[in-house]
Amino acid sequence: MFDPAPEDHPAPVDTDDDPLRCAVCELPVAYREDRQGIDGPAARTFFNPAGVLMAVTTFRRAHTQHDGPATTEFTWFPGHAWRIASCPRCGVQLGWRFEGERVFWALLDRAISG
Ligand SMILES: [Zn+2]
Repeated sequence: MFDPAPEDHPAPVDTDDDPLRCAVCELPVAYREDRQGIDGPAARTFFNPAGVLMAVTTFRRAHTQHDGPATTEFTWFPGHAWRIASCPRCGVQLGWRFEGERVFWALLDRAISG
């Protein structure tokens, strides 16, 4: 069962949807059915502060861990602070968790695989 709260603990059970997995350790970290467009389509590209194009997909929930305080510096979503979202098992960065009016995740397409 999913926790109905908009939190980061979707258990990988009770769904026909194949999970998206950490590309490194294959831990289930998100579901396609949880893709959610945030002021635009769910599949987006953004430039990071170093000018590198990042392809991400936004999700309304994901199974990640977060360290450190949230910051609005260079945020891609105005009004939303972010923290790095990492794989709870292997620790690789999967994307970012955004917090503000809404809570959502932007996961790097290259960091997750179906
Ligand atoms: Zn992993």
